[in-house]
Amino acid sequence: KRKDANGSDSRREAEGRAHPLASVRNIGIIAHIDAGKTTTSERILYYSGKVHKIGEVHDGTATMDWMIQEQERGITITSAATTCFWQDHQINIIDTPGHVDFTVEVERSLRVLDGAVGVLCAVGGVQPQSETVWRQANKYSVPRLAFVNKMDRMGADFYNVVDQMQQKLKAPAVAIQLPIGAAETFKGLIDLISMKAMHFSEDDMGSKVEYVDIPADMAADAEAYRAELIEKVAEVDEELLEAYMDDAGVSESALIAALRRATIANDIVPVLVGSSLKNKGVQPLLDAVVSLLPSPLDIPAVEGVNPKSEKELSREASDFEPLTGLVFKMATDKFVGKLAFVRVYAGQLKKGQNIYNPRTKKRERIGRLLRLHANHREDIDVLYAGEIGGMVGQKLFTTGDTVCAENDPIVLENIEFPEPVISMA
Ligand code: GDP
Repeated sequence: KRKDANGSDSRREAEGRAHPLASVRNIGIIAHIDAGKTTTSERILYYSGKVHKIGEVHDGTATMDWMIQEQERGITITSAATTCFWQDHQINIIDTPGHVDFTVEVERSLRVLDGAVGVLCAVGGVQPQSETVWRQANKYSVPRLAFVNKMDRMGADFYNVVDQMQQKLKAPAVAIQLPIGAAETFKGLIDLISMKAMHFSEDDMGSKVEYVDIPADMAADAEAYRAELIEKVAEVDEELLEAYMDDAGVSESALIAALRRATIANDIVPVLVGSSLKNKGVQPLLDAVVSLLPSPLDIPAVEGVNPKSEKELSREASDFEPLTGLVFKMATDKFVGKLAFVRVYAGQLKKGQNIYNPRTKKRERIGRLLRLHANHREDIDVLYAGEIGGMVGQKLFTTGDTVCAENDPIVLENIEFPEPVISMA
C-alpha cells in the first residue's frame, strides 16, 4: 500500500479529501431503552464538539457557549447521522432506532455503520431487550465496544455485567478497563492497555483527567485482568501470540494493533466503563472508538448487482471506484426541508452532479449536499467514499435506493452479509 504520513492511500483517496479513509469512523450507539444511549451520545458530541470548536476559534469561551447552548436547548442527536471530530478522526454517528423488532429501518441503519458502541447499564446488566439489540448487531457482524454505563448508581457491578455478556450474550467480552470505586465512590478507571489510572474531575463536565497511581488494593487485579486481556487476544491473533511468547513482552502498540484486529474480526468485544451522566469515562470511550473500531477500509467491499446485465459487482472503499451509495433514511429538517441521508461506499458524490436511481431508472441533479453536526449544518461540495451526509430536496430518491452513475449502475438492495461470527444460544 502506498500511504503518506497522514495514512492516506493515493490509489484510493482523492486529493481534496480533508479526512483520509483510515480516519473515518461510521458508528452507531446501540442500547435498549434507558441504558443511557441518549446521555452517552450527547456527551460524545459535547466532548468532540468542544475540542473541535476550541480548535476552530482559538478561544476558550467556545466551551462556555457550547455549555450554555447545551443547557438551553439540549445538544441531542436530532439527525439520522451526526458528524463530530476526535483526534483528527471524522466520527459519523448513525442514529439506530431504539425499538426491539427486526424492522427494515433497524436493519438499514445497521447496514450503513461499520462499528458500534453497545451501552449497557451497570446495575441492570444484560436484560432481554439488550439481547435483542445485540443479536441484531450480530446478524451484520458489526464490530463492537461495550460501554458499561451508570457506574455511579447504587448496585453498579462492572464485573457482573462482563460476566453476563459472556454467559447470556455469548459475547467474547473482555475488560480493557477496570472501574475505580462504584456507586458514590466511583471516581475513574484503570486502562489495562497502558496501565494508567485516571480520575475525572467533578466540575468542567469532567473534562479534566487527572492521572493517578493505580490504587494499591487494585494492583493485583489490574495485573490479572491485563494478563487475561493479553491471553484472550493472543488466542485469536497470531502476531500477538508471537510477541507474547517472546521474552521481550507485549508492547502497548502491539497490544492495541492486535486488539483492533480482533475487535474488527468480531473475535473480541472490548468492555469499557463509565458514567455518562457524571461525565466519567466518555473521553476514553472516544479514544477506543478511534483506536479499535474499523474504518471503511477495514470493511469488505460492498456488493451489488448490475441492473442491466444482472452481473454481480463489488466496489471497494475508494474515491476512484464508480459512485456507489445507499439512501438509508429520509428526514425533514426544519431549516432545509427534505433530506436524504446517504452512505457513500465508493466513488464521490458531488454537488451539481447527475445521479442515477436504478429503481426508478431516472436521473436527478444534486442541488445541495450537507454534513450534519450537533449544532450546525455544513454545506459541502463532495461526499467522499466512506462518508455520510445528506442530499437536500431530492425528489426521486427514497429509503433503500442506491445512488450511482447512469453509465456504471449498481443496485445494493440485496446485499448478502457474512454469517455472524458470534453465535447466539
Ligand atoms: P436511553 O433511553 O438509552 O437513551 O437513556 P437515557 O440517556 O435517556 O437515560 C435514561 C435515564 O438514565 C435518564 O434519566 C438518565 O439521566 C439516566 N442516566 C443515563 N446515564 C446515566 C449514568 O451514567 N448514571 C446515572 N445515575 N444515570 C444515568
